[in-house]
Amino acid sequence: PSNAIDTDALIIGAGPIGLFQAFQLGLQGIKAHLVDALPHVGGQCAQLYGHKPIYDIPGIPVCTGKELVQLLDQQIAPMNLPRHLNQQVQSLSRLADGRWQAVTTAGTQFHTRSVFVAAGVGAFVPKALKVAGVDQLAADQLLYHPSETSSALGRSVLIYGGDEEAVQAAIDCASLAAKTRLMHRRDTFNAAPDQLARLQALRDSGAIEVVIGQITEVQQNAGQLQALQWMDGEGREQTLRVDWLLVYLGISPRLGPIADWGMAIEKKQLVIDPATMATSAQGIYAVGDIVSYPGKKKLILCGFHEATMAAFAAAEYLQGEKPLLQYTTTSAKLHAILGVH
Ligand code: FAD
Repeated sequence: PSNAIDTDALIIGAGPIGLFQAFQLGLQGIKAHLVDALPHVGGQCAQLYGHKPIYDIPGIPVCTGKELVQLLDQQIAPMNLPRHLNQQVQSLSRLADGRWQAVTTAGTQFHTRSVFVAAGVGAFVPKALKVAGVDQLAADQLLYHPSETSSALGRSVLIYGGDEEAVQAAIDCASLAAKTRLMHRRDTFNAAPDQLARLQALRDSGAIEVVIGQITEVQQNAGQLQALQWMDGEGREQTLRVDWLLVYLGISPRLGPIADWGMAIEKKQLVIDPATMATSAQGIYAVGDIVSYPGKKKLILCGFHEATMAAFAAAEYLQGEKPLLQYTTTSAKLHAILGVH
């Protein structure tokens, strides 16, 4: 018996195009599941320019990256899309019955009749701390970019990094932890003015100790973090007793395993037929920044069109007949799907 999730469609990537893909599939009556490596939806819009304005979404004169993601999320709410976040699709292989099996880094398995690769510029994954001892640590001893830090309670915590998220984590831990240290290469932090002011106040009161240096080794005992070896600005090695390590070295996209899934690729883009968005593998479609075809533009607007083309083509593949074009304005069938009258 398999504990795989059975579905008609799997969307890999929850960027703007993966989200709109879910909407278009929903209008075709196709139920989908959604996977993303990040702990939140929105892809590049949320991760790379959440607070910056976008001016070229049709009908929306201006909105920020995060606002666009919120609007898309609101639009797809009627589709009740199950989300599997914080996990990367690792393997994709064909089953004997023609369906596809996808397995994620969290061990989630899907058996799906169709796949929509909306992987953009790749999976957003945190940059790993590469020092001796890290691989021997138990999973909860070192966390990358956690947004939730309540288990700092009573512990001796070291936050490693210099960006907004690292500063915020230090501020959050300061009221909970027995000891809060923020370690960075230099004494400058890249965060909002109010965060920097709060950090300074907590440094002044002794609630946060800033340490200027770099981790060189992690000391553990049976997987439990004991101490860090670190190097200060003068190149001197020192030791700090620490029992929780939060690492914020940045999150960047990696194309990752997609290149091994057997689809035609050109210059790191999936080759598709723009009439259907079908890749060279039957039942697998690709949309958004990950695809290449003559005239392709890496714009959100173009990805929305591609998601629509892919949904029509997949409806024909899954349902055995060409779907009729219906208007959301007037179709009773679409109104029922959208829950409107
Ligand atoms: P992405 O947004 O890249 O999302 C892909 C998602 O897939 C990611 O969340 C990633 O984690 C996930 N993923 C990938 N592989 C896997 C895997 N194996 N398993 C699980 N998850 C995976 N476009 C415009 O139209 N207008 C603009 O004004 C504009 N401004 C921009 C400004 C900046 C600074 C940048 C960087 C881009 C801008 N863009 C703009 C481009 C736009 O953001 C992209 O075209 C758009 O994000 C592409 O969407 P996508 O859904 O295809 O991919």
